[in-house]
This record gives sequence, C-alpha cells and structure tokens, in this order.
Amino acid sequence: MSDRLPGFSTLAVHAGAQPDPTTGARATPIYQTTSFVFNDADHAASLFGLQAFGNIYTRIGNPTNAVLEERVAALEGGTAALAVASGHAAQVVVLQQLLQPGDEFIAARKLYGGSINQFTHAFKSFGWNVVWADPDDIASFERAVTPRTKAIFIESIANPGGSITDIEAISTVARKAGVPLIVDNTLASPYLIRPIDHGADIVVHSLTKFLGGHGNSLGGIIVDAGTFDWSTGGKYPMLSEPRPEYHGIRLQETFGNFAFAIACRVLGLRDLGPALSPFNAFMILTGIETLPLRMQKHCDNAKAVAEFLAGHPAVASVSYAGLASDKYNQLARKYAPKGAGAVFTFGLKGGYDAGVSLVSKLQLFSHLANVGDTRSLVIHPASTTHSQLDDAAKVKSGAGPDVVRLSIGIEDKEDLIADLEQALGA
Ligand SMILES: *Cc1c(COP(=O)(O)O)cnc(C)c1O
Repeated sequence: MSDRLPGFSTLAVHAGAQPDPTTGARATPIYQTTSFVFNDADHAASLFGLQAFGNIYTRIGNPTNAVLEERVAALEGGTAALAVASGHAAQVVVLQQLLQPGDEFIAARKLYGGSINQFTHAFKSFGWNVVWADPDDIASFERAVTPRTKAIFIESIANPGGSITDIEAISTVARKAGVPLIVDNTLASPYLIRPIDHGADIVVHSLTKFLGGHGNSLGGIIVDAGTFDWSTGGKYPMLSEPRPEYHGIRLQETFGNFAFAIACRVLGLRDLGPALSPFNAFMILTGIETLPLRMQKHCDNAKAVAEFLAGHPAVASVSYAGLASDKYNQLARKYAPKGAGAVFTFGLKGGYDAGVSLVSKLQLFSHLANVGDTRSLVIHPASTTHSQLDDAAKVKSGAGPDVVRLSIGIEDKEDLIADLEQALGA
C-alpha cells in the first residue's frame, strides 16, 4: 500500500465503505431494519449511556447512513457528519444545538427561498430570531452581532442568483464574535468549494440536490469541522453543560472535536426525529460516486448556456459568476476555480410576463421547484419559490419579477441552447 492520501474522486467512490463483512457484497447494502440486537445487557446499557458506539435504532443511526456520513465528512474535510431526512431538517437540527429561546442568528439575505421561510416564520415559534445581513457587505454582518448572537449562516454559492459568498471574510467576523460559521454548501458541493478550508465550522447540505444528483431522493447532512470550542463562556449549554438524559456527561468534554456531530445525533435527531431512510442513503451514496464527473459537466454546460444567453437580444442581464464580466467573477476564481456551479439567473427584457411565458415554452427544461438534477430545470422565482416575499424583498434576494432561474443538467449543451433559443424567439 502506498501512503498517498486518496484524492477527491477516490474518496467519492470509496470513503466510508468496504465489502460487507458477512456477505462480501461490494456495493453498500441497504440495512433496511429499524433496530439492532444487543450482545448482552451490559452492551445495551453502554450504548444507551454513550460509553460505546454502536447501532440501537435507525432513528439514531443506521449502517447504510453511516457510510454516507463518513463519505461526506471525508469529501468536506470534517471530523464527523450526521445524515438526516432533508436539507431543512439539517438546518433545524444544527440550530437546535446552538440557540435557546430568545437567541439570535445572523443569516445572509441571499438564500434558498425555503430557508428564508423557515428562518422567518417557523423558527420564530421556537423563539429563535433571525437577523438578516447582506453577503455583499461584510460590515453588515459585523453590525448585526449582539450578545445574543449564536451563529452566522450563509450559502457558499447563493440561491437563486448563483452569487459567490466571501466565506473567509465572514468567517473572520464569526471568529471575532465567538460564534460558529454555518455554510450551506448545497449549490457548490465539496467538488467545487470546501467551506471548512475557508473557515467554516459547520457545513450543511441538502443532499436532495447535487450530491444525490438525480432528483430522486430527499436527504440532508450536517458536517462538523471540529474547529469550534463550545466550552467558552457558557454560550452553548447543549454542548458544554452536563446532560441529564446521558448520566450528566458533557458532550464537548467527552467527544472533543466531533462533539457537535454527536450533539446533533443524540439530542437533535434522537428527539426531533427527522431520520433519513437507509434506502435514500443508498440512492444518495450511489449518486456521490459520480459527483466529480457530473459536477464538472454541470459547470461546463452552465458556462456555455450563460454565454449564449448573455448574447441574446431578449435577455436583459445574466447573473452567472463564471462569466468574466460578472461582479462575482473574482470571488468565483478564488473559491470555485473548477466552475461557478450550475444554478444561475437571468433577467428578461419583457419582465414578469416574459418570465412566465418562457417557462411555458421550454420543452427540454422541466418547469419545477428543484435544482441539482441530471436534467435541466427552470423556474420563475417571483411567481413560485419567492412569491411569498414582497417586491422589495424579492429584488434583494435576487428574485425580481423579470428573473428566471436555471439549473443546468448534464445533457448535451447544444440541445439546451437550442431549446432556450426556440423559447426565447417564438
Ligand atoms: C433545497 C435546498 C435546501 C433545503 O433542502 P431540502 O432537502 O429540500 O429540505 C436548503 N438549502 C439549499 C441551498 C437548497 O437548495
């Protein structure tokens, strides 16, 4: 064996997996079981008391899901990960470990529309208050910090406009404020950007998108970078204080640089319950094996389509960080040199009506509310995902009335361009 560290594509295929020890099965089996037999009474007690690692019940952990967790932790460069039922579940489980009622977190204003809803409305009923900041104005994050701030949340490549966030600059603000930086890396995937390398403390994903990659399975994951010290100042009692449900152990003290992932599992997932089905974990693992191949094709196609649109007379503007003329191109070159992702927006000279008309004329592009599928997708955010926002908030979040969002698939780029050409021209 050489002592070379495996590269990204090797990890995408192998990390966390080995031939099944009982059957020799080479693909990771789907352990479709709710529960696992204990060796004896002492073994059972030690598992329940967190003195030993092992399988108890699939709501808390499952061997198929464990392979997925180890694989994504390896790809992101984290210490541990926890798979959950969806990207939104990942967000609620992460913040539940960090915020008490009355606490605040700062979030970038440019986010997935569902996250804006979740943060604004659902989290308010938990007493968690979101404070918005502008990812293009780093000082707005600094100004938003108060003694009740417990976390900062950003997207690496931001929905819907595909803008690139200056992760390092915002991580400096987080460090100064003594709070963890959470990065939603869904649109980039670790193939394009590894936020932990740039100062993120926690990475979350909707596995539903590029990691699974085929538009067939929901899932989410939380990656612990192992970088944050949870013991300072009693700010994070879930991690630093004795846990009554586990014989008074302190998670940070006991689990060190993967305490956050453990907290998410044994306090968040165990008690809130959004477990990932092992079948979905299997589908997503299969998708991840081809992540590097797919992601490069997604990006190459997206650049070609963006260039076509930029030259089309019906198009007012194209917001794709991979274009040399784009205002995020410098950040794209720094953070995502292999490609600026495959989700971006463009504006139509014809405004709202032209947006609605375009989505109805496209044939190869599917009109639906998803991104990160092998298939190319289109949506008009102002009339769908962002329709709940008022006009000013739509514009601020990059979803003005004339804006159309594309998620470019892995078809032949010539076919995608031909479809857009007929829909724009007709
Ligand atoms: C889809 C998405 C989510 C939510 O994930 P689900 O799996 O749909 O719950 C969160 N963030 C981003 C950037 C997304 O694209």
